[in-house]
Amino acid sequence: MKAAAFIVSCLENERVRFAFGIPGEENLELMDSLRDSSIRFVLTRHEEAAAFILEVERRRESDQVEQLITAAHKKQNAVVGLEDTLLALQEWRVWQLVYSEGLNLRGSQCTNCEALTASDEPCPYCSHAVRAVNDLIQLAAERVFDLEGKVEQVRGPAAGRLKELGSIGAVLHF
Ligand SMILES: [Zn+2]
Repeated sequence: MKAAAFIVSCLENERVRFAFGIPGEENLELMDSLRDSSIRFVLTRHEEAAAFILEVERRRESDQVEQLITAAHKKQNAVVGLEDTLLALQEWRVWQLVYSEGLNLRGSQCTNCEALTASDEPCPYCSHAVRAVNDLIQLAAERVFDLEGKVEQVRGPAAGRLKELGSIGAVLHF
C-alpha cells in the first residue's frame, strides 16, 4: 500500500469526513487516495475559510445531537444512552449511531450470538457466557455498517451535550 493510501485509510478509521487544502504537485497521490475514499475534500485557499467550515460543522453536530435528544425523549425513533442503544442495535433498528469523540467503552460480547452488552452478566438474549471487549464502540460501529447504517462521531460542544446522556445514542429505522 502506498503511503498516501495508508494515510487516508487511517483517517477513514478515525472517521474523518472532511479534508481541507489546495491540491498541487506535492500532494497528488494524497488527492488521488482521497478521491477513492469516504472523505470529502474541500478546496480552501485560506486557513480562515477552513476554520469557518469547521465552525459550521460544529454547529451542525450540535443541531444533530439536540434533535437526537429531543426525538429520544419523545420516543420518536431515537434512543440515547448505552443500554438503549445496544438494545436497538441488537434489534437491527439502528440507522445512525452517534457518539462523542474520545468515547472508549468496555463491554461484553456474547460468545454464542455475538450480542453486545454493557455488563458482564450472561447474554440477556441467549443466556450464553460473554467475553469482555475493550472496544465496544468499534464493534457497535461495525455492526451498524453491516446494516448499511451510518456512524457519526461528534466533537466539541455536541460531544459534551451527548456526554450528559451517556455519550452515545442512535437514530432508528422504526
Ligand atoms: Zn447471546
